[in-house]
Amino acid sequence: MSNKSITIRGAQQMVDDWIKTIGVSYFSELSQLAQLTEEVGEVARVINRTYGEQSSKKSDEDKKLADELADVLFTLICIANSTGIDLTDALDKNLAKKTKRDKKRHANNLNLKKEPYMDFQEIIGVIAQAGAKRETIKIYYPKTTGSTGGWREVEPYFLSNDTGEAAEHLVCGQDRLSPGHIFNAYTLGRGKTHYDSFILGKIRAAKATNRKFKPRSGWKVEF
Ligand SMILES: [Mg+2]
Repeated sequence: MSNKSITIRGAQQMVDDWIKTIGVSYFSELSQLAQLTEEVGEVARVINRTYGEQSSKKSDEDKKLADELADVLFTLICIANSTGIDLTDALDKNLAKKTKRDKKRHANNLNLKKEPYMDFQEIIGVIAQAGAKRETIKIYYPKTTGSTGGWREVEPYFLSNDTGEAAEHLVCGQDRLSPGHIFNAYTLGRGKTHYDSFILGKIRAAKATNRKFKPRSGWKVEF
């Protein structure tokens, strides 16, 4: 293996020197595109014969992947040179763009998000304080049957000591009933009648919103 190290900018210069001395001049951009496609096809052929199910023909045996990849690189550099593109800058900016885009993408991926965690007593404190002031709170509840996990804003009403028939109905499914740990609330933004019961032990975090609410008719706030 050669010890020569070539930078991308250096490679662009080497190709340019070669074209101007031996190759005479660059082909048109469209011809270069056709050539690039041809060379990519040759890479595909080597890969297909080497790693795919097709067997090599005698004529394929001297075709080497390294050489075909170098053909692709050469043609790509020719296109960059004739269109005035500095590939060092382009690659640098491209990686920065990918980093920014993917960082955001992963940060917004709920499956990768770490769930918040607060002490149980603190959670109860936030709920009780907001309830007493008739203010909504945001609670972080994990994924359950029929609803995705995440923050939701609720109007706090009361904590139950027993589940009762209604609560059992509301927390049925794969959720285990947890008697004495039910928090009754209206979930905002999910229609006018979205009354929910949450198992207190499952609430991961709670925060005040300082937004007043008017209790729904027929429901008392008891904190
Ligand atoms: Mg080739």
